[in-house]
Amino acid sequence: MSARAESVLAPLDVAAVRAEFPLLSRTVHGKPLIYFDSANTAQKPSAVIEAVDRFYRTSNANVSRAVHQLGAEATAAYEETRSKLARFLNAPSRDEIVLTSGTTQAINLVAYSFALPRLAPGDEIVTTMMEHHANIVPWQLVCERTGAKLKVAPINERGELLVDRFVELLTPKVKLAAVTHVSNVLGTINPIAELARHARRRGIPLMVDGSQAAPHLPVDVQALGCDFYAITGHKLFGPTGTGALWARREILRDMPPFFGGGEMIREVSFEGTTFADPPHRFEAGTPNIAGFVGLGAALDYVESLGRERMAAYEHELLGHATAALKAVPGLRIIGEAPHKATVISFLIEGVHGHDLATLLDHEGVAVRSGHHCAHPLMAFFGVPATVRASLSIYNTREEVDRFIEAIDRVRKLLV
Ligand code: PLP
Repeated sequence: MSARAESVLAPLDVAAVRAEFPLLSRTVHGKPLIYFDSANTAQKPSAVIEAVDRFYRTSNANVSRAVHQLGAEATAAYEETRSKLARFLNAPSRDEIVLTSGTTQAINLVAYSFALPRLAPGDEIVTTMMEHHANIVPWQLVCERTGAKLKVAPINERGELLVDRFVELLTPKVKLAAVTHVSNVLGTINPIAELARHARRRGIPLMVDGSQAAPHLPVDVQALGCDFYAITGHKLFGPTGTGALWARREILRDMPPFFGGGEMIREVSFEGTTFADPPHRFEAGTPNIAGFVGLGAALDYVESLGRERMAAYEHELLGHATAALKAVPGLRIIGEAPHKATVISFLIEGVHGHDLATLLDHEGVAVRSGHHCAHPLMAFFGVPATVRASLSIYNTREEVDRFIEAIDRVRKLLV
């Protein structure tokens, strides 16, 4: 085996990873914190915190406007993150990366700038039953404005997309399909490359919500064959208010601006305005510059660990956590697809999710309970809410075991 292959396969040193995340050493209600809410937002490594701090201490200035040294440094740092994102997603060009405040803004950009001008009454957009509201509501809004319809591809009880049914919906009326790569509730990893092949064969653009995939899986937009891919920085160990939309160059070129303002124009007069080329055409106003500097550091951090290595560690952790949870009496896991990321939703018979999450918090365990911005999915499973444990590279088997002990203690109080 080559030295490179060996180093790729060397297991993740989780103790070293944990040491990079200062917040993980705090206590909550007098107990060591067990942070199992990374699908909501991930904790930040020192490299990210320090990059943001350093930017404000040494290089703070606005981007793309000033000729002075600070302006040049800020612009270079901000633009460097665009290049890093292009490499991270294996985009063919950094000009195909639009920097956004997160996935929500990225999807809305596609809805208003790409879909809205193309939709007519009777047209359709296809999505799936397992989407986050961010990948439902923008499509509903543009459908309402145009008379188009939103069609929903079903899932099965294990939480897998029914690919045949998805493909059946791809009729000539469909102007766009929008699918999550990884479900934020079920953890299901959707077969995006397969869906993209079907969509492409029919000339239908495919938008992928990659919010929950990018923190867990290597993402290669060229290999996936989709047309749009959205990510959010804060789930990827970066600052809040950062994210990106990747779209094919020829698609971006034909999209009109969504927001107007500074930074996105070529020339403005009261007779008319001409716009900058993509991606700047879609980046009106002063962005979250320090945030993107931090996101650049987060991408470096992820690359330094190796995404295959991270995924292998998480796969092992998921297996351990799933088996341990299944052994808890009365516990039902919602989402049992064979290909999953480290997101586990569950319910315990006779126990209200909020009560469980509140008592777990008093044990130092942070899990989320609620509908997870996925009302239609909750309705499909016939539940108002679930408890969700979402794990990351900094979590350990020992934490899972302590979590299960905490659930046992809490169950005795509640059942
Ligand atoms: N899509 C999915 C699958 C998500 O899990 C989330 C966040 O929870 C979003 C979209 C929205 O991300 P943001 O609020 O960062 O834009």
